[in-house]
Amino acid sequence: MPGLHPAGQLRPAIVKQLDLARHGLATSAADAAYVSALADGGSLQLVSSANDVATIAAIRRLSPRDAGRWPEFVGFMNRAAAFLDAAYSTTMPRLPKVELRADGLPLASLALKLRRMGGKDMFRVMRSLSMSAVEFTEEWFESEPLNAAIAGVAIHGVTLGSMSAGTGFTLIHNWLNRGGLAHRTAPGGPQGLTDALVKAVHANGGEIRTDADVAQILVEHQRVIGVRLASGEEIKASTVVSSADPRRTLLGLVGAPELPPEFVWQTQSIRMRGSVAKLFVQTDGRHGLPAGTVAIAPTLKYLERAYDSTKYGEMSQDPYLEVTTSGADVMIHFQFATYALRNADWGLMRPELEKRAIDTLTLHFPAFKGSIQSVQSITPVDLEQTWGLTEGDLNHGQLILDQIFFMRPLPGWSNHRTPIDGLYLCGSGLHGGGGISGTPGRNAARAVLRG
Ligand SMILES: Cc1cc2nc3c(=O)[nH]c(=O)nc-3n(C[C@H](O)[C@H](O)[C@H](O)COP(=O)(O)OP(=O)(O)OC[C@H]3O[C@@H](n4cnc5c(N)ncnc54)[C@H](O)[C@@H]3O)c2cc1C
Repeated sequence: MPGLHPAGQLRPAIVKQLDLARHGLATSAADAAYVSALADGGSLQLVSSANDVATIAAIRRLSPRDAGRWPEFVGFMNRAAAFLDAAYSTTMPRLPKVELRADGLPLASLALKLRRMGGKDMFRVMRSLSMSAVEFTEEWFESEPLNAAIAGVAIHGVTLGSMSAGTGFTLIHNWLNRGGLAHRTAPGGPQGLTDALVKAVHANGGEIRTDADVAQILVEHQRVIGVRLASGEEIKASTVVSSADPRRTLLGLVGAPELPPEFVWQTQSIRMRGSVAKLFVQTDGRHGLPAGTVAIAPTLKYLERAYDSTKYGEMSQDPYLEVTTSGADVMIHFQFATYALRNADWGLMRPELEKRAIDTLTLHFPAFKGSIQSVQSITPVDLEQTWGLTEGDLNHGQLILDQIFFMRPLPGWSNHRTPIDGLYLCGSGLHGGGGISGTPGRNAARAVLRG
């Protein structure tokens, strides 16, 4: 089975710091096309560049006014993403305990960056974070297909609908991670990234062990002393850094008895709520899908209705899909496939998941169904059981307004530390996650070095 991801890019500064080019990482990812399938059977093809002539012409066919606004929109999104990137690179203070020396300077520099954006952009960015994708896109454009195409990116990977508050923020977050609307796949893809990272670890004297399930993080007198593997082997260590999600790390691997009761309660309250499923479809190559990232997001209401199902513990009847191809292989990202099905079980729902994905895609690309040779699907429960993602949440904690910035993973614990001395968190559940950015890992490394 191919990797889970259509694409994965680390932040350029991290690629440089780790010298990944020397370890074989190719980073020149082309500006890819984002193709939204429209309700009338046509499609809208966008490239996230301010002056792409074909993109502007395609938008003009929907609305001349929107075509005129596209360059300004792309410019704003790039600046907003750059600001978010700067915020993610800044370790958040442990409110309410701001340490002036450690936190003051980075925060002041971040505030200055926001100020330098200029009054108009500064307020736009601040407002956008709490807006819904519908409100945000409708402030920019009048064309429904264009707004829906953009809103698809806003709800990608989160259990939120196009009308949910905070999908303005998730749009900027996903734009930052992708470098625009479409996934950009560098030569070598996500596997190329993993290979380069492995080489960098080895070159720096590190050792990697896979197939080594940690059963417990060992603690003595509120200090970490190592880990015990499922095999029974114990590895002693004075520092343990976990990229498993915060709930799994703290409640599953450390255990509630080692932690303060209020902290346990807070950790239990982290909202995970995964609702993504994935399908890998092998075809005979005649699937009829265009290259790039294809979205089934015809209208804003379609996206909201797809999300509505999660409120009732159901799988979307008409799902939001995002599809990428690699030759004859077709990868389908399916939303919403809620982890917490009501009156049903993912073991039994798998055939229905596959049917709904295939039927929906075939509606827009009629040759698809006939081209299929085999299908493999991953449900949210598979993501939990095989990939270690609690509740199948690919972000290790929902990207919602009360779980970001200094509130990620928990208010008061945004500096990668935990109540257990020597135990740090470094994964997507931290400020800067989710997505393959490297940012939470770099911030955690800084925290460890500070001691
Ligand atoms: C289907 C899917 C598609 C995605 N697509 C994209 C994309 O296109 N682009 C993008 O940027 N992001 C994408 N993401 C999100 C991205 O995968 C995550 O944000 C990223 O992998 C997080 O990295 P991480 O190191 O923090 O956590 P993870 O990649 O989740 O790594 C944590 C690791 O800890 C391991 N682990 C857990 N428990 C234990 C234990 N007890 N013992 C030992 N190991 C353990 C897990 O097996 C896992 O390997 C996608 C995620 C999914 C699930």
